[in-house]
Amino acid sequence: MKILVAVKRVVDANVKVRVRADGTGVDTANVKMAINPFDEIAVEEAVRMKEAGLASEVIAVSCGDAPCQDVLRTALAIGADRGLLLQTDAELQPLAVARLLAAAAELEAADLVLLGKQAIDDDCNQTGQMLAALLGWPQATSACAIHAGAGTGTVEVVREIDGGTETVALTLPAVVTADLRLNEPRFVSLPNLMKSKKKPIEVLAAAQFGLDLSPRWLTLNVREPAARQPGVLVPNAAALVDALWRDPRAARCIPC
Ligand code: AMP
Repeated sequence: MKILVAVKRVVDANVKVRVRADGTGVDTANVKMAINPFDEIAVEEAVRMKEAGLASEVIAVSCGDAPCQDVLRTALAIGADRGLLLQTDAELQPLAVARLLAAAAELEAADLVLLGKQAIDDDCNQTGQMLAALLGWPQATSACAIHAGAGTGTVEVVREIDGGTETVALTLPAVVTADLRLNEPRFVSLPNLMKSKKKPIEVLAAAQFGLDLSPRWLTLNVREPAARQPGVLVPNAAALVDALWRDPRAARCIPC
């Protein structure tokens, strides 16, 4: 089974993002970037499947500008075999990424495409679903377990749903998106990081696929959330109940 894993370069989850003064978006100048955390989980899962003898090759693919090679290197250090960058400097929205990933899946004759359930920068949670629709493949989103048997041509996916889990069987080729509890990605050791530098990354111009990658929406304004009001200390529980009775927003009161 050949597995393609989509990895996006996003602002590191530990960075406190700042909105640009003109409200046009998030300031990414001189900000630490990293692999999208859900994509790291997807790469880990693909590598575990390869280590278990269920996958023949794991290919990490990213769509975007040249620095996206960083996150492909991270995927290679986790254990992916090679990287593929579909390069463009244009802004890519989920439909454009899904079109590029569909082209990559066909180019590579992938049996399984793994993605993160969502990118932590746009929080769209759209790309995997659009990709499955474009390819006409079955999909399972928000996976918390993937069970594959060698040569069965199917995968069983346990999905996180409201209040529990749902298990579905998919016929390959298929698209699966990774949720947080799918696994805990390994710590990338220095030797593996060094080894990853020798693994190949192929760069293809996104334009060569002749796809319509134009944006489908225009961001009008981005704002910081309203600052939290400071809490108020009340002398005892009775005072708290009283304050809540008068104004439920007083839930910020803490009995001292
Ligand atoms: P989204 O629909 O934007 O929340 O993204 C869902 C998933 O699609 C991400 O977790 C990635 O696996 C994949 N994805 C989104 N954008 C890109 C990109 N530019 N390059 C590669 N994969 C991407």
